[in-house]
This record gives sequence, structure tokens and C-alpha cells, in this order.
Amino acid sequence: MLPSDPDVLVIGAGCAGIAAARELAARGRSCVVLEAGPRVGGRAYTESTSLGLPFDHGASWLHQADDNPLTLLARALGVELINHDALRQRRLVTQGRFATPEEDRAFATAEQDFWATIEAAAANGAPDRPASHAAPQAGPWDATIAHWEGAQICAAELSRMSLHDFATTALDGPNLIMRDGVGGLVARLAAGLPIRLGAGVDSIRWGARGVTVEGAFGSLSARAAIVTVSTGVLAAGGITFDPPLPAATQAAIQALPLGLLTKIAFRADHPDAPDLPPFTSLRRAVTQDGDRPMSWISRLFGDPVMIAFCGGARAWAFAGVPAAAEAEARAEAAQIFGARAAAALGAPVVTRWAEDPLFRGAYSHAMPGAQAARTTLARPLADGRLCFAGEACHPRFAATVAGAWESGVTAARAVP
Ligand SMILES: Cc1cc2nc3c(=O)[nH]c(=O)nc-3n(C[C@H](O)[C@H](O)[C@H](O)COP(=O)(O)OP(=O)(O)OC[C@H]3O[C@@H](n4cnc5c(N)ncnc54)[C@H](O)[C@@H]3O)c2cc1C
Repeated sequence: MLPSDPDVLVIGAGCAGIAAARELAARGRSCVVLEAGPRVGGRAYTESTSLGLPFDHGASWLHQADDNPLTLLARALGVELINHDALRQRRLVTQGRFATPEEDRAFATAEQDFWATIEAAAANGAPDRPASHAAPQAGPWDATIAHWEGAQICAAELSRMSLHDFATTALDGPNLIMRDGVGGLVARLAAGLPIRLGAGVDSIRWGARGVTVEGAFGSLSARAAIVTVSTGVLAAGGITFDPPLPAATQAAIQALPLGLLTKIAFRADHPDAPDLPPFTSLRRAVTQDGDRPMSWISRLFGDPVMIAFCGGARAWAFAGVPAAAEAEARAEAAQIFGARAAAALGAPVVTRWAEDPLFRGAYSHAMPGAQAARTTLARPLADGRLCFAGEACHPRFAATVAGAWESGVTAARAVP
């Protein structure tokens, strides 16, 4: 049963919305969560139909697990958490072959130099600038590392990212995975909450007296609203605000666009399919200017599945055209494993975060100069009667389920 006269309306049932609803309940406040889509979890979404095995379309790791609020919540539910770092073998492919041990060592040293240089540049007191301006560029592995840390990890090229935000939001291990996926965990955490599915919010009237939200479901009023939709949805005008949002909030939304990370997951049952050991992570080195390699994860949990990851500009270029994504991933596989192995991969699942109007991308990054945008967006309006939450609002764990979760809790504490 949903309360008919809730204290608070929460817009969106992703991690931030679920965390906000749980925190409100813990504080004895009633709420209704209005979710436009047909399911909970948002960008934490695991389904088992298309590959016949649990597949995380969105989040799949609990990063920096010792500081991640979802680690404790998962443990409390008895979820078995597996340390991917302890199991994974990282392989680097260069010039059509696996890197030699010397090349692996040189690459690891270059990675350490990259982070030392970024951290020093972010701390040297100079104004913010694109992260690419600070990244090392002269070494043989620097282009590969920049591509990996930018497009493949942050879903956007370093040239599009604030150096200060990039340094502040960088993540560490342990990186935990679980059999039923992060989406499976988040769905369990939503159990019993007052969530109304298929209830898209079109507009929010807000002010000192409270809020009224409207959509095809009708109209609902409350003392406050917590809006957790992505900055991609907000920037596209997915919800209209009356009065319009303050200029600083609008500027923060524009300065925190979503990058794109697309996964192309193939069944790999055929004997000729690429056969790397379970949990292997594979990166291909950049060969020339403009080369934007995909990376691969092989046989998580021993499952016959190979997942290609494609981030940043290359992913945007084939967004909305899954056949093109598949063709490019097969071409990548052919470069590394040979044409026969690439052809032996089964029909893939291609994630669709860019074209889905409920998301419009994968996760946020701060544009150069906009390192303060996350705290600006998270600042409560009208004495807490209108609050924004979601991954983009977290100054440290942005772009993650941890950041989304903590921002939802913070917003729930800020409403009057
Ligand atoms: C491919 C990919 C890989 C990722 N990998 C990781 C990872 O390994 N680890 C990690 O920590 N994070 C990862 N992330 C990021 C993580 O998934 C997100 O940071 C987090 O799930 C965002 O949660 P949120 O609550 O802020 O937003 P969302 O999950 O986007 O929730 C917002 C909700 O609002 C709903 N909505 C939208 N418009 C409306 C409307 N008008 N009315 C009502 N409801 C609306 C949406 O349907 C959605 O359910 C990944 C994301 C992607 C896409």
C-alpha cells in the first residue's frame, strides 16, 4: 500500500531513490517513490533472460569496497561477495600478441607515473583544466593509459574532464562482484518500499509551501521532493520545473554530462570461441592516433560469456545501432583472437543506456573548470523542499552505486 498523503516524494527508484526511501522510513517519514520505468534499480540492472545467466547491464563492481555502503548491506543480506582483484589476471595485448613480462612491468610503471603526475598536477594550486593537459604523453604506453583511465573507466575522454574532479573521484579496490549482480542486490534492497512503477514525472512545482508533481499518473503533493533522475535526463528537459531552477543549479546540470560505456556481451560456448581463463581482463594497446580499443572481460564466474566494453566517443558513435556495436566488437575480437574465434562468438546482448530516455548515458563526469558542480547540484533548494540526489551529486564517489546511495541518504536527511 502506498501512503495517500506522503511527507516526501522521491523521483526515481535507482540506488539514490532506494537509499533515500530507506532513510526516510528509518526517520519515521512517509514517502512515495515515483519510478517511470517498469523495474527498480535504474542503472543497477541485472537480468538473466538474454544470456541465460545473470548479466549486469549497468554496474557490476562494488568499487573501493571497504568504504562502500553497499558492501555492508550486501553482507547483511548474506550475499556472497567475491574479490575480483584476487582472481583476475590482467593481460595486455600489443602488436597482435600478448605483452611480454618486461612490457607488462613497463606498463605498470607507466600507470603509477600517470597517477603520480595527475595527483601532483591537481594539488599544485593551478586553476582547473582538462585532465588531458596534465596526463603524461611522451611515453610508449601513455596513450593507452589515457584511453583506459578516460574512455574505458570514466566513460569520457580525459580532454572532456575536469582535472580536479578526475583526481578527486578516482577509485581504488577492493572491487567486489556477486553472482546475482549489483542489480540483483539493489532490487533486494528495494523490497517492501512504497514504489510506484510506470509513474513518470513530467513536471514539478516547488516552493516554500512544498511540491506538486505531475505526470500521466495524475498529480501528487508533499512537503518535499528528492529528484534522483540522471543529469542526462535533467539536461534534456525530461522534467520541467516551475519556477525554473536557479541558474547555478542549471549550470551544474550542464557541467555534469553523462559519458557512455556500452557493454557487448557474447555467449562463448563454441569450442572455437576465445578461451581465456575465467575472470581475465584484457586490454589492447592503442596503436595510432584515433585508435580507441575496447577492453574485454572473460568468463566471469567461469560462465561462457565474453564481455566487450566500449567507452567514450567510440561508444557514442554507434549508440542506438546495436548491429554496429556487434560488428565493431567482433572486429576487435578478430584482431586479438583471430577471425575464426571472433565468428564463433554467439549472438550478443548490447546495452542501450544512451538511447533510453530514462537515462541518456552511463554516468557523469565534470567538465573542465566545473569541479564544484557536484556540490552545487547537491545543495538543497527552498530549505530542503527540493533536493537533488544521484551519483552526479557525490563529490568523492561520483559515477558509482556507492555515490548514488550516499547522496540519497544525505538528501533524505536534508528534507524538512
Ligand atoms: C554500463 C555501466 C557500468 C557501470 N558500472 C559500475 C560499476 O561497476 N560500479 C559502480 O559502482 N557503478 C557503476 N555504474 C554506475 C552506476 O550504475 C550508477 O552510478 C548508479 O546506478 C546511479 O544511480 P542513481 O540512483 O544516481 O541513478 P539511476 O540509476 O539512473 O536512477 C534514476 C531513476 O530515475 C528513473 N527516471 C528517469 N526519469 C524519470 C522520470 N521523469 N520520472 C520518474 N522516474 C524517472 C530512471 O528510470 C531510474 O530508475 C555503471 C553504469 C553503467 C551504465
